[in-house]
Amino acid sequence: MSAFLPLQLAAVLLQPPAAIVHVRLIDGRGGPPIENATVVVREGRIAAVGPAAEVKVPAGVRVIEGRGMSLLPGLADMHTHLGGGWDGESADYLGYRLTMGALLYSGVTTVLDPGDITSYVKQLRDEIRGGRLAGPRIYYTGLVLDGPKPVWPDISGAIATPDQAAHFVRQMKQADATFIKAYGGLSTEMVKAVVDAATKDSIRVLADLWQRNGSLADAQTGVAAFAHAATLPMTDEAVRYLADHGTATITTLAVYESFARRRFQDLSFLDQPLLRDVLTPTYRRQIRAHGSPAAGLDTGRINRIARGLGTAQSNVKRMFDAGVLLVAGTDAPYPGDYYGEGLHRELELLVEAGLTPLDVISLATRNAARLVRAESEWGTVEPGKVADLLLVRGNPAVRIADTRRVVMVMQGGRIVDRAALRYDPRRDVDHHPAVLRTH
Ligand SMILES: [Zn+2]
Repeated sequence: MSAFLPLQLAAVLLQPPAAIVHVRLIDGRGGPPIENATVVVREGRIAAVGPAAEVKVPAGVRVIEGRGMSLLPGLADMHTHLGGGWDGESADYLGYRLTMGALLYSGVTTVLDPGDITSYVKQLRDEIRGGRLAGPRIYYTGLVLDGPKPVWPDISGAIATPDQAAHFVRQMKQADATFIKAYGGLSTEMVKAVVDAATKDSIRVLADLWQRNGSLADAQTGVAAFAHAATLPMTDEAVRYLADHGTATITTLAVYESFARRRFQDLSFLDQPLLRDVLTPTYRRQIRAHGSPAAGLDTGRINRIARGLGTAQSNVKRMFDAGVLLVAGTDAPYPGDYYGEGLHRELELLVEAGLTPLDVISLATRNAARLVRAESEWGTVEPGKVADLLLVRGNPAVRIADTRRVVMVMQGGRIVDRAALRYDPRRDVDHHPAVLRTH
């Protein structure tokens, strides 16, 4: 999947080798951190990694002091919509430079976009791959396959027959999609038809089937993953089925918290650097208005959603204990669930669900790579892997919120110029119409 263009390859070879020293290493594999580790990066990849006593710092390399800090693999948000005007009205794509930057600014070096304007996400991916735009590595589904009356007409293929399923599957495969996305307007039988067509074309299916996420009947269609954790209690049979068949679940607790409005009880989260530095004034105003008591709330609905968040967290813990492949994702952007920062919030909500911080970090690194079958390329800090790295202050193995204390982001061995990714009124468009979508 890493089809480097010659230009990008040249840039990688020109980078001086680097060594990060005296750092606590959390390598993404879930084991205990290595205190006082050395990580050597050369030609865009990890060249050596281990305790300082075992890994020599080569002469002439750029030395990055990591004392008091922790080094992690770059994070992955495997459910975020990059926004290509897909609500049919908004020109949210005008803010692409800023939204791509917000992800990278927060240490998110990989994303999966499970539903968007196909040509838009494909071009973003290609611009970033070509080194012409700063942003994360992008995987996408492109169009969503929905029933005859799609919820999001502008980004959907409406299908009613298996023939139509096969047509769209071929189209998305040609567009280089990583998964086919099946959506909740499809019956279980039609999901099965989509899976059959996709299997013929050697592509897997990612499903958001709303209340049917995590159900045994829909898991049995052969979908590769559910795009959200279930908000209704899962049966033991379903949990076991997912574990036995390698059916993954992308967690998206952050979007449930957004719907439940829990974050808006204290708007001070807007002041922390990962949001403060990248939000536009208009977005900030919209979020404050959305969070104000005057916003006109349906408390019955909100309480129902808050219970759904609790149920999703308990499903996540049960699936984790049973060995289901869990992958972190946010469904950003929603109010209080923004590009980049939302993933850090997701990690906190996963710890709240009962997972350990080390497990949670693996969900956003190694497991993300597993989902897209790229574990030989990225997702852990091991020799030979692409040097996508996140250096933070403190110790997220003990206090997960320390992932927010970003000191440095490295992408393909190159240190990201984070200062250039902040919102700048002289350059950036001050609007963000898509953020107030709330279902
Ligand atoms: Zn989504």
